[in-house]
Amino acid sequence: MTPEGDRHSRYDYLVVGCGLYGSTFARLATDAGLRCLVIDKRDHIGGNCHTTSREGIHVHTYGAHIFHTSNSAVWAFMQRFAAFNNYVNSPKAIAGGKLYSLPFNMNTFHELWQVITPEQARLKIDSQRFRGEPSNLEEQALSLVGTDIYNTLIRDYTAKQWGRHPRELPAFIIKRLPLRFTFNNNYFNDRYQGIPIGGYTALFEKLLSGIELRLNTDYLADRAHFDGLARRVVYTGCIDEFFGHDLGRLDYRSLDFEHTVIETENHQGNAVINYCDASVPYTRTIEHKHFESVPSDVTVLTHEFPRDGGANRIPYYPVNSPDNQRTFNLYRQRAEAISTHIFGGRLSEYKYMDMHVVVEAAMNRFRSEQKLAARADATI
Ligand code: FAD
Ligand code: UDP
Repeated sequence: MTPEGDRHSRYDYLVVGCGLYGSTFARLATDAGLRCLVIDKRDHIGGNCHTTSREGIHVHTYGAHIFHTSNSAVWAFMQRFAAFNNYVNSPKAIAGGKLYSLPFNMNTFHELWQVITPEQARLKIDSQRFRGEPSNLEEQALSLVGTDIYNTLIRDYTAKQWGRHPRELPAFIIKRLPLRFTFNNNYFNDRYQGIPIGGYTALFEKLLSGIELRLNTDYLADRAHFDGLARRVVYTGCIDEFFGHDLGRLDYRSLDFEHTVIETENHQGNAVINYCDASVPYTRTIEHKHFESVPSDVTVLTHEFPRDGGANRIPYYPVNSPDNQRTFNLYRQRAEAISTHIFGGRLSEYKYMDMHVVVEAAMNRFRSEQKLAARADATI
């Protein structure tokens, strides 16, 4: 690695990964007059937010991506690169041949129990709640919504999604979902929400405009060479891979996406439908045209099949079990000792992070980099 502070390096930052973390960081650094090289081992930009155009429809290559945030600075930053539409995510769930509203709200309670008022719904839930301190996802779900909703909409979906029983999963996963006693099917509580008009790939083209980019380029295949190019490295790949898995592999949950073009104008009437029964092998079907209300005679549907992670699979979801978390903490300690490298994003932080969280984390990290640089300049 070129010594930190060496002003003769070709780049100030080598950014490994042009997903949302790397691209945000590179944009901010470039705007501040710093020289960045962004590389990605994939053949496209945008990481998991990538979209492709099929039949005039922007297909979310790696599953539905709905941008939402309550952070005005993050929202303003994203607006620089795309106009967002007013899409509000309101997925439906199918279980036992019946259709339910998500997230869990008065519509769901009415569909399940025919209750009409919030008080009736609360009484119903209270009569079947788990009353202790929840220590896993099952107890957390039972404590929030009781046995009927857990058994119908959560237990088997979660087991499919994560490949393990909800008792073996951390409680925080289910805390993501809002629980409301109003007739409001908005999946998110955030102030701002939408889909970038024109797709995420167009957004990333603007986000990365004017920044040197090399695709099909694996940092770990020639680390010494890449380290020699820059003063500092922003690494957004898997942290265990960075260290050659020498403390063991961290578990990730993977997915297969099957994209199909169907000769019909409207196949399922909604962008996202969840399938909560164990007998259905996929968790969700996405009908992409509904994200942007595209008028066309055909539609593109994606089935999302959860899979075990492994050496040759794309890692999507960190599995934050206590064992994995322990191993990750050891990797993190080692990463923190490498002063030339910044480890950021979902794979490096081994954390379930939504897009707005990733943008905010990259913004904060760049801000602290600037403070460090200002301090170093002051001591010269
Ligand atoms: P990534 O997008 O994974 O980018 C990392 C990049 O680094 C990748 O392009 C990878 O190829 C590259 N890379 C890794 N190793 C190397 C290497 N050795 N050399 C070169 N390049 C390398 N968030 C929301 O806010 N709303 C949603 O609706 C939503 N839906 C989601 C649905 C699914 C199915 C999934 C899996 C996630 C979803 N997310 C959603 C989360 C969102 O995808 C992440 O927050 C975001 O993509 C993380 O960005 P990142 O830059 O950290 O990681
Ligand atoms: N979940 C569920 N049933 C559903 C939707 C979600 O049990 O119909 C649970 C499941 O454990 C999932 C978690 O809630 O992993 C978070 O759901 P979310 O829709 O936020 O998942 P993501 O979009 O991140 O895959």
